[in-house]
Amino acid sequence: MKFETKAIHAGLDIGNPSKSIVPPISPSTIYEINADGKTDGEFHYSRLDNPNRMQFEHLVSALEGGADTAAFASGIAATQAVFQALKPGDEVILPEDVYAGHRKMIHGMMSRWGLKFHFIDMTSLDTIREHITPNTRLIWIETPSNPLMRITDIRRVTELAKSKGILTCVDNTWPTPVNQLPFELGADLVMHSTTKYFGGHSDTMGGTVTTREKSEIFDQIRFIQKMGGAVPSPHDSWMLSRSTRTLSYRMKGHNEHAFALARFLNEHPKVSGVYYPGLESHPGHEIARSQMSGFGGMVSFLIKGSREDAVKVVAGSKIIKRATSLGGVESTWEHRLSTEGEGSLTPETLIRISVGLEHPDDIIEDVAGSLDRI
Ligand SMILES: *Cc1c(COP(=O)(O)O)cnc(C)c1O
Repeated sequence: MKFETKAIHAGLDIGNPSKSIVPPISPSTIYEINADGKTDGEFHYSRLDNPNRMQFEHLVSALEGGADTAAFASGIAATQAVFQALKPGDEVILPEDVYAGHRKMIHGMMSRWGLKFHFIDMTSLDTIREHITPNTRLIWIETPSNPLMRITDIRRVTELAKSKGILTCVDNTWPTPVNQLPFELGADLVMHSTTKYFGGHSDTMGGTVTTREKSEIFDQIRFIQKMGGAVPSPHDSWMLSRSTRTLSYRMKGHNEHAFALARFLNEHPKVSGVYYPGLESHPGHEIARSQMSGFGGMVSFLIKGSREDAVKVVAGSKIIKRATSLGGVESTWEHRLSTEGEGSLTPETLIRISVGLEHPDDIIEDVAGSLDRI
């Protein structure tokens, strides 16, 4: 079955005895048990499992081509579960420009867990090799990275990791499985902030970890989901399944509009650099082409001028809203350094835009008008 078809049909009949075409939302936190405490059905207590979460997990597994998925209340809770499944003394290699929230979570929480983190330039296989020690347990891949759009070669990194018995997890939030399938490229785990494109309408938080095959590490992640308790509500799970039905068509629009905007920016006299992996001038373009089927809806660019000028451009838009995050049907942009704050590698004249599904001519006109202010 093709991706578009799976997105519409997967998970619909699971935990849906009525066979209604749209599954009901099941708010119940408890399920009837027998006098001996056992259950006849699949469900017992909603933190452990519930029909809507199960449907959504099944849907994500089907789209990523994985064996199983654990859904969480946010992307960062999903990532945390992966780290918590490691043991004190384990070492993790991850990109130096990793998603800023992950960096803050690691410094403020996970370092106390007794894990050692190496933030490095993941575009260089040699640099990765130099940081591998006998304690390295996990290589965290985020490609394209945020907001510099660096491209990591998933095939080569997972090959290296496998040869050393190291796990790999790909944060696939930006590309989504429509544009990039990490399991086909050798990854062991795939993580998502489903708050972004899976949700797609800027109205639901969520996160997932999917495993390529049954494994000890995934069993532990599943345990952390149930007993750590950072679970999505039945309503959130239902919302996420609903919006995932249109993921492939929304991504086609995001890909097309972002590419059009990147080409426009690339020719603009007030722009000194465009980060979009679809452009041939992008240093990671060849690798991106070999592992992505579309280049996504995110574009970063540098303006000629000062930090204040960049802020002025962002302030000037009429349609594009000023907001962080990404993946909604509406276009949003931000002066990224102001959002990320301390420890960020983001240049001070960088603007990051999540290109939405408005007509691309209107988005380009709005960007052009904003650039005219400086
Ligand atoms: C937003 C985001 C996250 C964190 O997800 P939340 O749902 O905000 O907790 C992780 N990785 C990437 C690439 C993101 O964009």
